[in-house]
Amino acid sequence: MKYAIVIPDGCADEPQASLAGKTPLQAAHKPNMDRIAQMGIVGWSNNVPASLTPASDVATLSLFGYDPLEVYTGRAPLEAAAMGIALGADDWAIRCNLVTVEDEQMRDFTAGHISNADGKALLESIQQSLGGTAQVVDASAPGRLEFHAGVSYRNLLVYRGSGPGPFSDQTKTQPPHDIPDRPIADHLPRGPGSALLQKLMQESRSILRDHPVNLARQKRGEAPATQIWLWGQGRAPHLRPFAQVYGKRGAIISAVDLVRGVGVLLGWTRIDVAGATGYLDTDYAAKGRAGVATLQTHDLVCVHVEASDEASHEGRADAKVKALEEIDRHIIGPLLTALPSHGEWRILVSPDHRTPLRTRAHAHGAVPFALAGTGISSKGQCSYDEVVAAESDVGCEKGHELMRRFLG
Ligand SMILES: [Zn+2]
Repeated sequence: MKYAIVIPDGCADEPQASLAGKTPLQAAHKPNMDRIAQMGIVGWSNNVPASLTPASDVATLSLFGYDPLEVYTGRAPLEAAAMGIALGADDWAIRCNLVTVEDEQMRDFTAGHISNADGKALLESIQQSLGGTAQVVDASAPGRLEFHAGVSYRNLLVYRGSGPGPFSDQTKTQPPHDIPDRPIADHLPRGPGSALLQKLMQESRSILRDHPVNLARQKRGEAPATQIWLWGQGRAPHLRPFAQVYGKRGAIISAVDLVRGVGVLLGWTRIDVAGATGYLDTDYAAKGRAGVATLQTHDLVCVHVEASDEASHEGRADAKVKALEEIDRHIIGPLLTALPSHGEWRILVSPDHRTPLRTRAHAHGAVPFALAGTGISSKGQCSYDEVVAAESDVGCEKGHELMRRFLG
């Protein structure tokens, strides 16, 4: 059996006044998603346990069939895996966003979707000034700080420890994408090790203020990266390989380090696609072609698209609808055409978590899924959307249980 999973990140939403009272999923012209709904089952699942922050890390683990309450250690370690950075037992990975803070408010958690080249240059300056030995625990066991450039605003700080280190499970940090236009003073790191994190964030300001890259950005009318924002810290997680747990060879197609990292840690093959940006301008068709091609070599291929989530963070209902239509046309359509040529097959469409346009932030709560294929009979549902899912008698309170149902 061949399996395809398509993740329109953060697509689950609420009715929008600007969409005549429809949710983005309801407003989108998406014949292929609706065909899956009509052939198979629309249901709901809850991918984010109440005690964890709603985001793609936790939600993706659930969607891939792992209980986040058992295996989740933090967001940054998953991204480290995707970036090929190994973590030792005393090491911590910490997400290091380049952000734009203005009037002491979080104006843009992406620093104007900063380019890879600009981000890399800024991270190099930060590494030069702030990297190296961190005398934070005691002189006998200092840690070392490594700043690694990633994709766009998504960079990483690695704390190489020798001993227990300054952080613990009680270290609390704030995802910057969940505090749009809010005062940062209310959301600074707290608890063990927070003094170090706050100090690094503060010191990054003077390094970046008159940096040539930022001056050039402002000249072009682009947002400057005014500081780093540290969050999502954690140690290396231990995940049993997917092939061992579920007996299938998987592959992941995503432009987002975090999602790729989860796949890589499960033992999935990472397929890189030229033109995949993690944003609204991504090359949907290239991802669709890569998904179809990967079916030849793997039992399961997962295509993740970030664009729908980014549209929500920007509060753009029309862009969210457009992203869903592109996913439907260029990714789900070709997969639906190709799958039957492999004999038995199944497809699952589901976002990881909700990202309501109203709050422009991730949210807890059930998300709709649609699955169809060999051995799955139709429940007579007409459309893939939040309302049909909410009325469905098929639901997974523990989202990680959906994978077993999907694989059959
Ligand atoms: Zn998001």
